[in-house]
Amino acid sequence: SDIKNVACVGGGVIGSSWAIQYALKGLHVTLYDINDQQLAKSHDQMLRSLDTLVAHNAITAARKDEIIACVRPTTSMEEAVQDAQFIQESGPERIEIKRSILAQVEQYAAPDALYASSTSGLLISDIVAEALHPERCIGAHPYNPPHLIPLVELTRCDKTDDDCVQLAYDFYQSIGKEAVLLRKECPGFIANRLQLALYREVQDLVMRGVCSVEDVDKALVYGPGIRWAIFGHNMIMQMGNPGGLTGMVEMLGNSGDRWLEDMASWTHQPDNWAQVAQPGVNQEMANFPDYIGHTNAECIAYRDQMLIDILKLHKKL
Ligand code: NAD
Repeated sequence: SDIKNVACVGGGVIGSSWAIQYALKGLHVTLYDINDQQLAKSHDQMLRSLDTLVAHNAITAARKDEIIACVRPTTSMEEAVQDAQFIQESGPERIEIKRSILAQVEQYAAPDALYASSTSGLLISDIVAEALHPERCIGAHPYNPPHLIPLVELTRCDKTDDDCVQLAYDFYQSIGKEAVLLRKECPGFIANRLQLALYREVQDLVMRGVCSVEDVDKALVYGPGIRWAIFGHNMIMQMGNPGGLTGMVEMLGNSGDRWLEDMASWTHQPDNWAQVAQPGVNQEMANFPDYIGHTNAECIAYRDQMLIDILKLHKKL
């Protein structure tokens, strides 16, 4: 890709991780946030992420310093975007803020700079409603943390230029992301809808007294979760029966129909779910062996260490 200069606008959890991702790939990165305190937080998060990569031999300690030197923090939007060929916006998930950030960026950015919003669920057609150059704007939804999870979901609207979509797609692929492009706008995109569909059933199983919070998580991690880190669901079904997907549907037959009839289809979460889930999750953490840890921070460190190992297996690191 010809893209060498990237601006990250908004340096919170996601923006800081994007900055690391781009710097790891040798790009020049500017990182904009609204004040020095936010930029200091961002700097700390980037250092922690890089320390984890060093600790698990994904990069050397010397590379860490080079990478951090590739990221230029600033509170000036002009400085952040004037030379950028690609702008990754990761500001707060509020439509009026997304629009105001885009308007600010448009004052200083080159008209042909690509603009990608990390939005988790806002429609790109809403974000660009007042834009001067809506044709160069796309949605680019990462998975947390973007520097470790390859997926990016690309969304477009009627106003988006086809060439811009292709350029963005090629750019993400060139830096090792796995991009998927939605064929039409859809709230929640793909992956979060899959997560929520599963979460609905997780809640229902627990609320009906079928299993504990801890056991439903265990069933996922040591069952389908391990396979899902290798192949997608269609592939898994294809491989699960000598007759492939058709054979699988035949094999499940009436038995499968019976499960579907019994499964949750409601549209709102149970009101008291948090009161059920929280003690369940606390129990789950208390029961973890010491090598996983027992606090949230310890579990996040374990997650990142495992992600690095899985990425190595996928030859992504
Ligand atoms: P965050 O609150 O950690 O970060 C938001 C950052 O934006 C903060 O540093 C804040 O100071 C900055 N900001 C506030 N006003 C701004 C402005 N006017 N201009 C520029 N920056 C401004 O939030 P986050 O979790 O990093 O989420 C950022 C975006 O990424 C959201 O759109 C969110 O939906 C999306 N996202 C989040 C996740 C996740 O798991 N956290 C995953 C995928 C996508």
